[in-house]
Amino acid sequence: MPDYDAIIIGTGQSGPALAQRLVKAGLTVAIMERKLFGGTCVNTGCTPTKTLVASAYAAHVARRAADYGVTIGGTVKVDMKAVKARKDSVVAPSRDGVEHWLKEMKGCTVYEGHGRFVAPNKVAVNGRELSADRIFLNVGARASIPPIPGLDQVPYLTNTAMVDVDFLPPHLIILGGSYIGLEFGQIYRRFGSEVTVIEAAPRLVAREDEDVSHAIADFLSQEGIDVRVNSKVVGVEKQGGSIAVKIESDGKTSQVVGTHLLLAIGRRPNTDDLGLDKAGVATDPRGYIQVDDQLRTNVSGVWALGDCNGRGAFTHTSWNDFEIVAANLLDKDERRVSDRITAYALYTDPPLGRAGMTEAEVRKRGKPALVANLAMERVSRAREKGETKGFMRILVDRDSKQILGASCLGLSGDEVIHCILDVMYAKAPYTVLQRAMHIHPTVSELIPTMLGDLHPLQ
Ligand SMILES: Cc1cc2nc3c(=O)[nH]c(=O)nc-3n(C[C@H](O)[C@H](O)[C@H](O)COP(=O)(O)OP(=O)(O)OC[C@H]3O[C@@H](n4cnc5c(N)ncnc54)[C@H](O)[C@@H]3O)c2cc1C
Repeated sequence: MPDYDAIIIGTGQSGPALAQRLVKAGLTVAIMERKLFGGTCVNTGCTPTKTLVASAYAAHVARRAADYGVTIGGTVKVDMKAVKARKDSVVAPSRDGVEHWLKEMKGCTVYEGHGRFVAPNKVAVNGRELSADRIFLNVGARASIPPIPGLDQVPYLTNTAMVDVDFLPPHLIILGGSYIGLEFGQIYRRFGSEVTVIEAAPRLVAREDEDVSHAIADFLSQEGIDVRVNSKVVGVEKQGGSIAVKIESDGKTSQVVGTHLLLAIGRRPNTDDLGLDKAGVATDPRGYIQVDDQLRTNVSGVWALGDCNGRGAFTHTSWNDFEIVAANLLDKDERRVSDRITAYALYTDPPLGRAGMTEAEVRKRGKPALVANLAMERVSRAREKGETKGFMRILVDRDSKQILGASCLGLSGDEVIHCILDVMYAKAPYTVLQRAMHIHPTVSELIPTMLGDLHPLQ
């Protein structure tokens, strides 16, 4: 007899919710967590960074107070210890909530330790071997540490340490001009640090359309962030109390000297110490666990959910993975990863909300398409709030009239995108959204209007 009906390794965004569904269905569950309950999102990812984004926004608006006719008197100061305390006050209850939820869950046993396969249906934890016919891996990912010469000789931060900083780094150098690096860059610039962002690609967030990348680079530069694109880091070294980052750009070398270094150049899955070889679970060359459209690995009775399967790198994709696995196992509902539409946000200010394809992807598809763009300067709600940076774009298939994708870079772009995303899920023609009456004054009210401006994508 197996010890449990199911074993779950990791308490990220899918593990705990899956545990609850399984015990409600009458199964016994063992769940393992080696570090912090709730995983990345709660402790070192979404939640802490979004509290920091909020503090940074408060500082930014306070500095702009005069624009709104408000007098502050004196310089705006940021108390970094108070910023961190606020962050902790939001994070701790979420983490404790996950821990208590699991520990009080009837039918679920919590093991606080590192789980590792010893056989296809057996996992060792805290010196014990536990067996189960169903094993779910929700082990997440961590910051990848690139092989930069000299990196082992200098102190550096990753997202994990960065969210616990309670002082102002005088000059923060960030390696990586993508989602994580840019959020931290703007946060710390608004707190008062000098910030340099170094990106190897020719532009920031290179998977976005070029004009989106350029608009983001523009507003970050306007805030005083030194953005270096097309810059390959070839070495780092200590220079007195500072850190020098050597860059190669168009064949020329130069250096940036700062006080602190943040690595934000990608993630790697936590699969290297999971005993996957003992179970025969296959990974790709980067260590991501290979799964099918319903998140089954190549080993019968083993599933992989969340960041570790390489099919998404977001809290909502991990949660959606939980829904897919639960639906297939418990509800006779054959949900699939391929049912979902790409969607995510970049939480700079203004944020970027994204759904489906970019314009570049639509062009590559080679079928007739329509496009509409709208500058945020034309949105009255944005003008009223004095936040008019950015633009919105919607792409439509000319023949089916279905929406192919959208980018909303601007005030509330992370929220506005959902009215488009939901119509995409409904597979309805864009005309349904065009005829909807939206509320005034909002940013979303301009989406139906924008659709009236659709024209052929050249
Ligand atoms: C700085 C930053 C900001 C982010 N912001 C956003 C955002 O705004 N929106 C968004 O959607 N996503 C964001 N993300 C991504 C998001 O945090 C992850 O996609 C999300 O947490 C999904 O994680 P997961 O469920 O795969 O596992 P994780 O949350 O990574 O959890 C995995 C858990 O497994 C545990 N574990 C690992 N191996 C073992 C083992 N062998 N034994 C026992 N336990 C183990 C770990 O300790 C961890 O607690 C951000 C990420 C970062 C780094």
